[in-house]
Amino acid sequence: MEDDDISHPYDNSHRAFLQAFMARGTMTFNQARPILAAIFTAHDQDEYRSGNREEEPIATRLGEVSRDDFDSYVSAVSAAISPFDMEIRATTHQVTKERVYSLINTTSDAMTQLATLRSAEEMAFVRRVIDAMFDQYNTPRMEVLCIDGMQANKLRAAPPRSSNNNNNEDAENGNGESQTQALKGLKSSEVEQVLRGLVDEGWFERSRAGFYSLSPRALTELRQWLVDAYNEGDAGEGEWQRVKFCEACREIVTVGQRCAERDCCVRLHDICEDAFWRTRRERKCPRCSAEWTGKHYVGERAVTETESYQRGRRRSGKSGGRSSLADSIMDAEEGDEE
Ligand SMILES: [Zn+2]
Ligand SMILES: [Zn+2]
Repeated sequence: MEDDDISHPYDNSHRAFLQAFMARGTMTFNQARPILAAIFTAHDQDEYRSGNREEEPIATRLGEVSRDDFDSYVSAVSAAISPFDMEIRATTHQVTKERVYSLINTTSDAMTQLATLRSAEEMAFVRRVIDAMFDQYNTPRMEVLCIDGMQANKLRAAPPRSSNNNNNEDAENGNGESQTQALKGLKSSEVEQVLRGLVDEGWFERSRAGFYSLSPRALTELRQWLVDAYNEGDAGEGEWQRVKFCEACREIVTVGQRCAERDCCVRLHDICEDAFWRTRRERKCPRCSAEWTGKHYVGERAVTETESYQRGRRRSGKSGGRSSLADSIMDAEEGDEE
């Protein structure tokens, strides 16, 4: 057992670590290593200057910062902040399996924390983006659960009241009627700024392909809120719901695999599947017995693995004038009509 009582008194190095933590919102061991290395180096130099240390210190290298160092700093900082209704919570990243540590205010709910430092306009935009992830881009046909920058930009203002079907893309520009609403919406530059802020604070993640999704922190902190907002309370066991949970670990799945049967709600994280199938004789859905292919995706692969997305990328180099997310979804929905 570790003696975490008084072996490491709380000192300036802990304060510096807490400061770095507060600036980031979330941290993994690998992100903390260079920070702790710099803190240890500065601490050694302080000790040397003040005469508490005899030999001149050399800089602490990244590789010298151990998991134990990190754990001890996390637990020391946790103890120090608890009187202020703050807490460090750990969750597992659903793709990388890394442990992600988040600094949480325990007196307010996550939505309130999201709203801190954001204007009503910005929060309305954040709500539209989360709605798009969990509603518009999360159907039995396609569970994308993320959004690209171009689609997010289209959500900078609330949609005009009457037209919900965007079969005419030009309509939203010329139509001045929605301008009479109390909230005018954001400028494109403000949209970018809000999205960047959400990523920096550890609420959103941005993938290499440019898709924004909820981070491990957001999924943990907003778990109940998401279920209340997007799932039907009176749906029967096994019925399709917008927020679904991993058959293995019971956490929300926004990136992973789905049952081939469209109406079946069994989902698995990629990182959970090995352990899940190891104990089973055949790869079949535990609920509906459909063959489990591993090729039916939840998350951005639901888009990026489609024929039309790949075609669009080939045609336009990287990303063309229109959003490939919107195109791919529209193509998939059209193909569905037949
Ligand atoms: Zn899982
Ligand atoms: Zn199934």
